[in-house]
Order: sequence, then structure tokens, then C-alpha cells
Amino acid sequence: MFQTPQTWVPAGSRERIEAISRTHLGESSRNGSRDSSRSDTSATMPEVVAGIEDLIAASDRLHDEEAFNLNPASNVLNPRAVALLSSGSGSRTSLGYAGQKYEMGLEHIEQVEVVTAELAARLFNASFAEVRVPSGAMANLYAFMATCQPGDDIIASPTTIGGHVTHHVEGAAGLYGLRTTGAPVNINAYSYDLDALAALAREVKPRVITMGGSLNLFEHPVAKVREIADAVGAHLLFDAAHACGMIAGKQWANPLDEGAHLMSMSTYKSLGGPSHGLLLSNDAELSERIDAIAFPGLTANFDASSVAALGVTLADWIECGEDYASEMRASASALATELSARGVEPFRCRQGFTDSHQFGLLAAPFGGGMRAARTLERAGFLTSGIGLPVPEEPGVQNGLRIGTPEIVRRGMTAADMPRMAELMARALDIGRTQDTTVAETGAEPGTEVALSEIASEVSMWRKDFSEVKFTA
Ligand SMILES: *Cc1c(COP(=O)(O)O)cnc(C)c1O
Repeated sequence: MFQTPQTWVPAGSRERIEAISRTHLGESSRNGSRDSSRSDTSATMPEVVAGIEDLIAASDRLHDEEAFNLNPASNVLNPRAVALLSSGSGSRTSLGYAGQKYEMGLEHIEQVEVVTAELAARLFNASFAEVRVPSGAMANLYAFMATCQPGDDIIASPTTIGGHVTHHVEGAAGLYGLRTTGAPVNINAYSYDLDALAALAREVKPRVITMGGSLNLFEHPVAKVREIADAVGAHLLFDAAHACGMIAGKQWANPLDEGAHLMSMSTYKSLGGPSHGLLLSNDAELSERIDAIAFPGLTANFDASSVAALGVTLADWIECGEDYASEMRASASALATELSARGVEPFRCRQGFTDSHQFGLLAAPFGGGMRAARTLERAGFLTSGIGLPVPEEPGVQNGLRIGTPEIVRRGMTAADMPRMAELMARALDIGRTQDTTVAETGAEPGTEVALSEIASEVSMWRKDFSEVKFTA
């Protein structure tokens, strides 16, 4: 190890970090000395480079050939966007307004910046689009900086309905000095309790009310929350990091049309673009502030290759987004229903399981969300745990989050969901019967054999879905 062991990192992770370092860099290293030659490392730098390439190739094989990615926080890009992303133009400087760039040689890149911002404004029917945003988390930070001062109060989604850390004390909001109060929840709608929210807003006097989270099942009552915000002089921020696909594909009403002052998002989730952020508004005053926060505030250079890849992504959405989003939504409904028919129960609201591209599964019968996700991974399905508004499971997440952005972009439809549910239910049933410690370590040979049989069936079927659909 070249780094000093990070004592604050959980022990299990520390061991993993040390093992990775040993594997890829060799038996190391400083031997307690501060010798900068580090000559005792056994791996040569060409070996290290080849090792990094091998790791990414293996990751691509897993995601692009072997497994079905059912994580709604992940997606596959248009290959033409991938090509732009890897072009190297991200290392070119890009600061300043188009026509007034500070450095020379930017007459092409500045056009990409303008085209992408225009496409974003068109797709989301917004007057202003900020593309110089490295991530969804940064988009939220920009939004907070444009609307609040440190010390102000905001109201945001609690984690029970997918509220994101960036709205809370550990994330962008807290780091900027804001105090977050969790909004009251109407579990039956998987959104806000409006009467209780109005009362809370009168009490807290927030500068901002945020909506939208990492799991969105039914449309949020944006217009009604805007009325509540107006009554106390607050701005309304809709975080569309996950819901953006439903909005871009016109399956859900556009929160900006419904009165949100700002809409933030990540572009690599349901949007299927690069890992990037986007911030949209119809409010000129806020947009002027955001422009100054983007530059010279929090970025100097922005990644032009990522903005180019985003431009391609947005063009895909303008061309085929409605078909893509409606199939995502139909497939999510079908998968939830088919799983339920096989005894794997989705979280249910008054209106049903979901009206979006994602849903939650009750994970208690499978030892919690994380353990269920590990079981599914060994059978060839990538998912993740999530908290659901149902009784807590001590020490583990009580839900599993499932989404259809990637499988649909690869050509699956609702008609494929019975088979998908069958394979998933078989895997989860194996996880159901094992005791936690055994399943955690994967030490039970019978379990491994049964799961790997499913995994080979999955990877055979997976070959039918190698293309990327819904491209302009
Ligand atoms: C993922 C997510 C973010 C953060 O996005 P990054 O692009 O990963 O920084 C913000 N808000 C919500 C609701 C999210 O799910």
C-alpha cells in the first residue's frame, strides 16, 4: 500500500483495498519508510496500464454481455455517444461564453456547448438550460446556491420515499450549510402528504422545497406543492435524476410546466447519457445566478466530450424518446406484476405497483435489499437495495430497487417480462431459504451451483439483446 490505511473506512473495505493494491501493484511498498523510489513494487507501469485496461474490459463484458442490468441508476449509451466521450476533447479548455472564449482553438467546442444546451431546452421545454454541470449532485448544489444562503431551511423528501442524500445534511445541502427537514409522506401515493406539508412549510419557512428522489413510482403533485411553496415564499426544486426519462418521454407531466422553478438531473440514469448533470429553469433571475455559479463559480473547464455525448443523447430523446419511455414504463409494470404472480412481492401503493420505469421489491423474505441484490448478482441480474416505507429490517435495507431503462434500451419489451420474472424469482427463492451468513459469503456449494445455472441461462438469453435501440 502506498496510501496510509484509512482508519475511518470500514474494516471489510480496508481489507479489500489492500488486496486490490497487492494484486495490481504488487507486494509493496514503502516498508514503513518514506522512500520515494518505491522500487520494491513488483508490477511495472506497463503492467499496471494493461491491468487497468483488463479491468474495464471485464466490467464491460459483465454489463454488456453477461448480466441484465436492472439498476435504474445505470444505462447504456448510444455507441456514437461513447465514441465522442472517448474522443479526448474533454481535455480541451472551454471557459467563457461562446464567441468570447478566453483561449484559442475553441470555435468548434463552443458550438457543441450551444447545440447541447439548445437540445436540452427543447426536450424539457425550458427557457434556460445549464450544461456546465458535472453531475446531478452538483446540479443540486448549484440549485441550492442560487436560491439559499447558508443557515437557511429547506424541506426535502425523506429517504423512506427515495429522498437523496444531496438534499440532506451529509450531502450538498448540508455541506452548503442548509438545514433540511424531511417532508411528511403519504405512503399510499409514495409522495408528499400535502396538508401536512403546507402546515410544516408555515412552521419551517423553507427557502426551497425539493421533490423527486431515487425511486419514483407515481407522478408527484408538483402544481400543488408549488402553491404551498408560493404561500411561504419558497422556491420549488424538482430533482429529476431518476424521473427525467419519464418526463423527457412525455409519460409524466413536465415539472417545469407544473410550476417547478428549477429541475435538476443526472444524465446517466434513465436518460442513458454520459455521467453528467443538467439544470433547467424558466426563471431568468435564477438562471443568471446559475450561469455565474457554473462559471466562474464552480467550474473552470467543463468536459466538452461529455457535453458532446449528452448532445447525442438528447437528440436520441427528441427523435425516439416517447417510444422508449412508454416501453420502459410498460415493461416495469409487467415485470412487477409477473414477479408478484410468482410470490416475489413489489411494494404496493393505492394505485398499484408503479406508473414509472422503476419499482421496489419487499426484501425482508430475502434477508434485506443488499443480500437479495447479491443473490441476484450471482444469477446474472444487477440491482441495488433501497429503503421503502414499510417496517424496518434491523441493520439491512428493507427494499430492492428494480428498473427497466437498460433492458428496454437493449430491445426488451413487456413481452419478455414473464421469462425475466421467472428467472429472478428462481434466484430469489434460492436466496430465501439460506441462512444469512452462508448466503453473504456464498459458502454454500449447492446455492452457488443453483445460482450459476441460472446465470448461464441468463447470459445465453442476454445475447439476444446486444444492440442499443432508440437512437436518432
Ligand atoms: C443519483 C441522484 C443524484 C446524484 O446524481 P449524480 O449524477 O450521481 O451526482 C441526485 N439526486 C437523486 C434523486 C439521485 O437519485
